[in-house]
Amino acid sequence: ATANIGVVGLAVMGSNLARNLAGREGNTVAVFNRHPDRTRTLTAEHPEAGFVASESYDDFVASLARPRTAIILVKAGAPTDAVISELASRFEPGDIIVDGGNANFHDTIRREADLKASGIHFVGMGVSGGEEGALHGPSLMPGGTAQSYETLGPILRTIAAVAPDGEPCVTHVGTDGAGHFVKMVHNGIEYADMQLIAEAYDLIRRGTGKSPAEIADVFAEWNTGELESYLIEITAEVLRQVDAETGAPLVDVILDEAGAKGTGAWTVQNALDLGVPTSGIAEAVFARSLSSRRAQREAAADLPGPETEWKVDDVDGFIEDVRQALYASKIVAYSQGFDEIIAGAEQFGWDIHKGDIAKIWRAGCIIRARFLNRISDAYAEDPSLVALAVAPYFRDAITGGQAPWRRIVATAAQAGIPTPAFSSSLAYYDGLRADRLPAALIQGQRDFFGAHTYRRVDKPGVFHTLWSGDRSEITIESSN
Ligand code: NDP
Repeated sequence: ATANIGVVGLAVMGSNLARNLAGREGNTVAVFNRHPDRTRTLTAEHPEAGFVASESYDDFVASLARPRTAIILVKAGAPTDAVISELASRFEPGDIIVDGGNANFHDTIRREADLKASGIHFVGMGVSGGEEGALHGPSLMPGGTAQSYETLGPILRTIAAVAPDGEPCVTHVGTDGAGHFVKMVHNGIEYADMQLIAEAYDLIRRGTGKSPAEIADVFAEWNTGELESYLIEITAEVLRQVDAETGAPLVDVILDEAGAKGTGAWTVQNALDLGVPTSGIAEAVFARSLSSRRAQREAAADLPGPETEWKVDDVDGFIEDVRQALYASKIVAYSQGFDEIIAGAEQFGWDIHKGDIAKIWRAGCIIRARFLNRISDAYAEDPSLVALAVAPYFRDAITGGQAPWRRIVATAAQAGIPTPAFSSSLAYYDGLRADRLPAALIQGQRDFFGAHTYRRVDKPGVFHTLWSGDRSEITIESSN
């Protein structure tokens, strides 16, 4: 037993994470894959890593020093359960099984509970940053017991991405499924951020007639300011790309049907269960669904749009409006994502430090951005902040950006350009700040058809109006 850590599953993520681990002082990495050809390829291509390779679970487990620690990176779902069961039957109390796949956090909670009696620690760990991140430094979101993190934490800190202030992008998120939950919300926010950027591009393209390469310059310029982020950076790269075959901008030859692997949908499904309005994320998920409904889009293609043609006169002014609308909408999307984290923590009993989550997303992951410093600052100043949008920095940013935001949403509506994420973010913002919402009318309607009762603004208690009787009000529950 010579290895202090092992990796099971040597497809792209597992091999890269194993190489990352092997490259750090003090690590000896055991590797195993169901089909040994992957193991052989990896060890042949990377002799420098000094991997301890095994071709059976028995040998793999025997190669691990105690407490045994193995990170699983296989297909989520049944394959993960299969590997866990192989390891668990050979591991002993105190050993640690880490699942770094994109597991559903409900599965992680179940797996942790199943292993608890055996004394084996099960850690569901969100890994973000794709294959490059796995190799050079991912953002890591481990859950599981605090005790397992004592062993795991120091190893993870060596392989994680490093934020601009030198801090590694890893923290013990919370117990059982907390890590995978936070990773799920990370992906949901990623959907919203990407959709907002896509809407900004679409508005600029259609409003100004600028070419994708010219719009790439706009995004590159934005990337020097408060919007600085990985997603803005790669947007410029994608827009600048020319198709070798046709000579056209690549973005014009890519089929406009967006795929999804499901974590955005999970974020929204759980937000619905938790009663958290993550409308920006939901719109982003639905925008991808709509894009892929080819038959409906074709059938609807000749439905009428606006009568008048739209043309932007002040191009620079318009682009600046779009930038501000994007920033304000982005604040809303992140605010909603953090609301879901807060609600999840409450529901599932996790002690999640919001500021630390923003910190570990500053490097390595897809939504890494300068902006996340602002979020961690906001939670540092006020750990019980009820909504990001009301923190002083964000309040100021929205105050400065709200006129352009409104102009852009109104313009888009008039021009017939779909901006579901911009528009829903603004509607959410206006809903959040409203003194009085028409929810009062909805309560009246509910009471009318279903006797669902209502509360009053002027006195405590629960009331019902006898709608089909004499329409007098009765008290269902008085305050005492
Ligand atoms: P894949 O998701 O393509 O999974 C392939 C690996 O799973 C192979 O090692 C394969 O072994 C193994 N496997 C499949 N079924 C079984 C089984 N029944 N028993 C044992 N092993 C099995 O690999 P990736 O590297 O792309 O991803 C690994 C995990 O990381 C996934 O959960 C993924 O969602 C997650 N992830 C991926 C990211 C990415 O950017 N790709 C980013 C973050 C997380 P074999 O070679 O024997 O078939």
